[in-house]
Amino acid sequence: MSLGRRLVPVFSFLAVVLVLANSTISSQSPSTKGVITRDDDFQARVKEWTTRPDFISPLVDHLPKVAGLPSPKDVLGHHVGAPKKLTYYADILRYYRALAAASPRVKIVSIGKSNENRDLVVVFVGSDQSIKDLTQYRTYLAQLADPRTITPEQAADIIAKAKPIYHLSGGLHSAEVGPSEMLMELAYRLVAEDSPIINAIRENVIVSITPVADPDGRDRNVDWYYKYGISETEGQTTGAGVPYWGKYVFHDDNRDINYSQVEMRSLLDWYLEWHPPIMHDLHQAQTLLYTFSGQAPQNPNLDPILYGELPMMANFEMAQFAKYGMPGVWTHGFVDMWSPGYLAFMSSNHNGMIRMYEIQGGSGANTQKLRLGNPNAGGGRGLGAAPDAAANAAGRGNQSVREWYRPWPATGEFDWSLRDNTNYGETGVITALQYTSQFPKIILENFYVKSRNSIETGRKETVAGYVIPAGQRDMTRIERLVNLLRLQGIELGRATSEVKLQEGTFPAGSFIVKRDQPYSRLAKILLEKQVYPDPSLRTYDDAAWTMGLMSQADVKEIADKKILDVPVTPVSEKEIHLAGSVRGSGPLFAVADYGSNNMITLRLHLKDLKVQAVEQEFKQGEATVPAGSFIISGDPGRVKSEVEKLGLTAVTLPAAPQVASHDVDLPRIAMFSTWGNTQDVGWVRYAFDRFDVPYDLIYKERVRKGDLKAAYDVIIVPTQGGTAKRLVFDIENRGRPIEYKKSDMFKFLGVYGESDDITGGMGIEGVAQFEKFVKAGGVLVTLGTASYFPAEFGLAPRVDAARASPQFYAPGPIVEAEILRPDHPIFYGYDKKTVPVRYANGPLLTVQTGTNPFEEAPAVPPPPPQSILMRYPGGDDHVLSGLMRGAAEIRNRPAIVDTPSGKGRVILFAGNPCYRWQNFGEFNMLFNVVLHYNDIKTPPERPASTAAQP
Ligand SMILES: [Zn+2]
Repeated sequence: MSLGRRLVPVFSFLAVVLVLANSTISSQSPSTKGVITRDDDFQARVKEWTTRPDFISPLVDHLPKVAGLPSPKDVLGHHVGAPKKLTYYADILRYYRALAAASPRVKIVSIGKSNENRDLVVVFVGSDQSIKDLTQYRTYLAQLADPRTITPEQAADIIAKAKPIYHLSGGLHSAEVGPSEMLMELAYRLVAEDSPIINAIRENVIVSITPVADPDGRDRNVDWYYKYGISETEGQTTGAGVPYWGKYVFHDDNRDINYSQVEMRSLLDWYLEWHPPIMHDLHQAQTLLYTFSGQAPQNPNLDPILYGELPMMANFEMAQFAKYGMPGVWTHGFVDMWSPGYLAFMSSNHNGMIRMYEIQGGSGANTQKLRLGNPNAGGGRGLGAAPDAAANAAGRGNQSVREWYRPWPATGEFDWSLRDNTNYGETGVITALQYTSQFPKIILENFYVKSRNSIETGRKETVAGYVIPAGQRDMTRIERLVNLLRLQGIELGRATSEVKLQEGTFPAGSFIVKRDQPYSRLAKILLEKQVYPDPSLRTYDDAAWTMGLMSQADVKEIADKKILDVPVTPVSEKEIHLAGSVRGSGPLFAVADYGSNNMITLRLHLKDLKVQAVEQEFKQGEATVPAGSFIISGDPGRVKSEVEKLGLTAVTLPAAPQVASHDVDLPRIAMFSTWGNTQDVGWVRYAFDRFDVPYDLIYKERVRKGDLKAAYDVIIVPTQGGTAKRLVFDIENRGRPIEYKKSDMFKFLGVYGESDDITGGMGIEGVAQFEKFVKAGGVLVTLGTASYFPAEFGLAPRVDAARASPQFYAPGPIVEAEILRPDHPIFYGYDKKTVPVRYANGPLLTVQTGTNPFEEAPAVPPPPPQSILMRYPGGDDHVLSGLMRGAAEIRNRPAIVDTPSGKGRVILFAGNPCYRWQNFGEFNMLFNVVLHYNDIKTPPERPASTAAQP
């Protein structure tokens, strides 16, 4: 790559060019024993694969060759960025292992196993000395991460000796394939190259790499590419992506705020051991490279230093790219800084720095034609107006508009290759590392000061801590909440005696979160009510996540500074277990239904025993046993051990209680998934798997086969696709079948289901089968947007579903819902009239009451029909956390409808009671349907005189 064509200032990077212009130089380094030469083949191929001369920088247009050190081509057979070549995960690992075996500058650590048992690793690259003393550097960072352990003088001394770890991660999203290829070349370059920029990086920074954050999805996507993508041409695409990435989720592995997925949890565990001050996640969604700088709405809890650091690095990158003559690099105007749930946020949540790129690219390795919008057409993004993902995907054009944050947009038509993607990604990352290598001490100092500030602000700010009171009805949700906080490294203690604070008196054993701790900001972010800073701004993901509300658990925010001095026993274990209690020795037990999600697990673990549920509460001695509680007889030893293990509460009964009760039969459950939208189904599957609830995952193939009632009692249709039409007709057929099947050649396909043709959906034929299922006595449960399906296709004839106005905007706020039918089994375990629920942008439901629509409305509105089990009061007053714009639009809209149909029934949730791994408080509304599916009754309508409020 010649520099002559560009008007670029000639300084640091010129040295790279000069050094490599001598085709042979002796290495200065003792660890690269061989002679460094230039890889002429690389240079020629890369020039050929780069579609435009301004799509490459002098940082990456060459590659050194070192005898004895394997380059990616030596192991993979081709250079990184070769057209039509994608690398399977095993080969990626093979490359890093070969590199590590050949160089003392590389070390690989195992951090766990993926869902499908692939090795999860982190690859460290640095100078010989950095890698030799890696554990020492880890200790330094751990000390800076917890300033309570060191004096300011010691901190200065540590900063002088320490090196920042800069973590890079690719392949979180399996269809964003480029970065995982690029990182191999980067690792090699960092080991092999002798140039001022790389030498400074190697000397001053320790680079750590997640080669592929979702390796299961990587392999499936690579299979899919070789099966279909590789032969696609413009206008001739299959129109379908691979049905699964990871076992459960697609993009949501970047929204897994509670680190439910094992790949995410493993990385978090690693993070808390190594404390890299910077975590940089590499994605592909924007043109040509977007570098995150933390735009509004911003979470005000995070340190102002961070908000200075983010644009500083992004702007440095933007300027460097411009200097290299590469267009299309921009910042701002895409992802905002509100939700703390993105994976790399683990860094900023722990006083480090989240970084993110979105690089132009696709799901495969074909060169594609890009047609960017007319730069004169307008449509740029205003300050802080973060667009939604769909608008961005559809509106590439606006990325051709010049803005203050996009001084040099890419425009026009051109080809874009995988190597172009590599060039941009690698140039960006080397530039970020260059910056870090020039200011390593500033980065370390900032990390230390942010950690110190977190402790100090915790002491100074209004909120001094949180109390999670002991003695709550259901302590299993408290156990989970505590464990989720512990997972993120947040310190808690248990009060050694009763605690008296301005906010109230709390029993001994209550969990105390004091804010004078390094992760005090994170504790507040997770536990507080989200007060959205500016309702006119959009946000890229959820507006609310308040853990207490999501769990429907009592968590008290405390301003009283005395909380900082409450004597506690620190919770030292990573996971606590609060054992259940069993009073008496049986043989007849009442297991109280206090709303624990573990009730369903208990039933399943004791599936061979007779279990009944009481339909009303009753007294047993001092104890009140609520409706829904289980009466279990037989095998007292097992009952006792399960109840204790599952954290439940049981008492012995002398005899069966004299209240109405029913057998808790276990239904045969199916969960229906389209082929086109498996992720939200995946979250429900995940919850069912975690609570040991068995089900069959079924697709259109099974539905069309018919006779569903013979096989299933309950079919759950999780939210998916957005509309009823999408649910029914799913992926468009473009004239040829698209098969998803395992074969010798594609062994990662056909997992979690197989299909000869994933297109076409269940069709009207499938709808008819669902109707037969319900009419024959089946229970159909639809969640979120799947509830359009029974409403619009007539399975729930009395229910209609509308959409909110375009002005309505509800990015996952937590709102109040009012229970209208507390007697319904769905609410067993719920003891309050109103509950906090996540609002999920499902349908606005109405239930026809049979009144003549041409009559005038009665003066006193009729009572809500019995089929409406729960509704949203609506209005701003009932938004408990986050943002809902136009909250009046949902006023008194049903949240859950239970409508009989034929011998069966359809239960429609307007919301999603099983959202990600988050709204645990709502899970039981779904689990209760499963447990009591054949004991649901519909009472006669209430007389008009008992009219409820309008
Ligand atoms: Zn992505």
